[in-house]
Amino acid sequence: MQWFLTRDGAVIANATRIGSQYILDSVAIEATMAATERDPDLDLWHRKFGHLGVQGLRGLHGVVSDLEAPISVPRGYNSDFCEPCIMAKQLRVVNRQKPDKTDEPLGRVFSDFWGPYSIPTIFGERYICTLTDQATRKSWTFLTKRRTDFREVLLKWKKETELQSGHKLKILRLDNAGEFKAFENDLHSQYGVKTEWTTAYTPEQNGVSERLNRTLVSLARAMLIDARLPYKLWGEAVKAACYIRNRTPIGPEGMTPEEAFSKKQPGIMHLKPWGCVAFHRVPDKRRYKLEPVSQKMCLVGYTETTQQYRLYDPVSRRVVISPRPRFLVNRRLKWKWSTRTPSQELDASNSESDSDDGYGTEKLVVGYHLKTWRGQH
Ligand SMILES: [Zn+2]
Repeated sequence: MQWFLTRDGAVIANATRIGSQYILDSVAIEATMAATERDPDLDLWHRKFGHLGVQGLRGLHGVVSDLEAPISVPRGYNSDFCEPCIMAKQLRVVNRQKPDKTDEPLGRVFSDFWGPYSIPTIFGERYICTLTDQATRKSWTFLTKRRTDFREVLLKWKKETELQSGHKLKILRLDNAGEFKAFENDLHSQYGVKTEWTTAYTPEQNGVSERLNRTLVSLARAMLIDARLPYKLWGEAVKAACYIRNRTPIGPEGMTPEEAFSKKQPGIMHLKPWGCVAFHRVPDKRRYKLEPVSQKMCLVGYTETTQQYRLYDPVSRRVVISPRPRFLVNRRLKWKWSTRTPSQELDASNSESDSDDGYGTEKLVVGYHLKTWRGQH
């Protein structure tokens, strides 16, 4: 099995997989480091798209509903300039093996479960669960506190998604973990869903969702570095990355996964750089006359409607759903975070990790530049 490392769609190295490590065989093509002039508009798009490779922006015009003119990306323009991208080591591992084709949405769905991460989210979650529809490449991300929560998450998702789309889930690909084996009979007898298993020896069978999780975690890492927000917000970053990914032209025939799945082109003009300053309007009823009309927060996510956003309030340490907030897209929140620095959090969490479920603790942080975090607050 040959693995490839890519940057902005170009293969830059071959790799061999040993366990969970990828060993570089050879550098296939030198990454182009052309000294191109920066375009602030293009850099802003790059940040709005959660630090995805700029090449993906080229195909957006015509596959989204609200972009009037194509975004022009000059040849050689890449994200090598971008500090968060460099620090997040945004190399993506691509498995070129294609699974059997199914054309109908929900015909085959890949699932993957990652974690526990050493730092819990603000809601206490430590696991990421992703589902990817093979036909349309649309994906869904869920965060859970326990691995065993998967069953509930899946059944709720199945019910809602089948109702909204009018399609039925036919095949679900799972990994061979014991708790999913127990689930298999129920899925088949109660819901008529067939299960396929990824064997422990060939994890590349589940390459679709493994690749997705790598991408989402890598984007989330770049977004957190860019925004200089505390690490406990990684869950919000991962969910936002999934939302953005469904709006990029990576689906069948260059469509967005969102359109391939729902037959409706999504809009993208409401996207903002993750973590930028946002002003939440306080309802009149909730404030005294002389109090400020707005509270200063930052963007951490999107909702089902393009009018409402998820904002993080550093004062109350809560996520609020805010209708039509005002954004300062080039500003970051300057806040003395009372939480420990990521290095301390990582050290501390080693001793308190919930290894009682028998799974090792996974680190979200690799090669992190902690100086930047300390320097900015
Ligand atoms: Zn970047």
